Amino acid sequence: MKTDAIVLAGGRGLRMGGSVPKQYMELCGKPMIYYSLKAFEESFIDNVILVCSEGDEDYCRREIVIKYGLNKVNRIVAGGRERFDSVYNGLLASNGCDYVYIHDGARPLVSQYILDRCQHYVEKYRAVVAASPARDTVKIEDGNRFISSTPDRDKVWLMETPQVFEYGLARSAYEKLHDGRERLKAAGVNITDDTMVIKMFEDVDSYLVEDIYCNIKITRPGDLVIAEALLKSGDH
Ligand code: C5P
Repeated sequence: MKTDAIVLAGGRGLRMGGSVPKQYMELCGKPMIYYSLKAFEESFIDNVILVCSEGDEDYCRREIVIKYGLNKVNRIVAGGRERFDSVYNGLLASNGCDYVYIHDGARPLVSQYILDRCQHYVEKYRAVVAASPARDTVKIEDGNRFISSTPDRDKVWLMETPQVFEYGLARSAYEKLHDGRERLKAAGVNITDDTMVIKMFEDVDSYLVEDIYCNIKITRPGDLVIAEALLKSGDH
């Protein structure tokens, strides 16, 4: 059985501010992207495909992959305009495998625990996602900043990555998305994770794998402080 991981670092990270793209910002003295690549390096995953912004390929090879001896990263490819374009490019760069992990490089605290749990369940259910039950009550707004409804908190989960699929399933779904991309855009569909794509194009429901560790996405400057504290404590 062969498993690839696609690590996404092709975003601009505009919500972080600053001149350095967030994936290269330092966390405990190393670039943020290093940590998720290292987690895959130390896992059972066979190959890692790093997706970066166009033009950053050499920088990533030199300053991250070679510098830190990340031997499983055997492809570095350019991403696209949207996250899903970057995932598609990553899938095309794979030589083919049984399962594929899709992971946001902006989640440096991904644990071996969740990588293992996802593998266990994907072999059973074909499509799985790391997720945490909502702690806060979630509200849906009406478009004018007034609350219109309250989903039952016991059924609300927050999506994380990795999102893990049979490779053929993901490849087929993303090819269909790629072909229908302009139509979806015109219809105003906002694709924010991979499980949506698998449901939309293959009608396969993803199983929620509960993450018991802190696997936050670095989005705003304050998140760096939290991530550094968690890295130093070793509790992630
Ligand atoms: O923007 P967001 O935080 O949702 O991005 C999640 C991940 O997807 C990040 O790791 C980012 O680098 C990546 N991404 C990408 N290509 C894009 C947009 C985002 O690889 N066009």
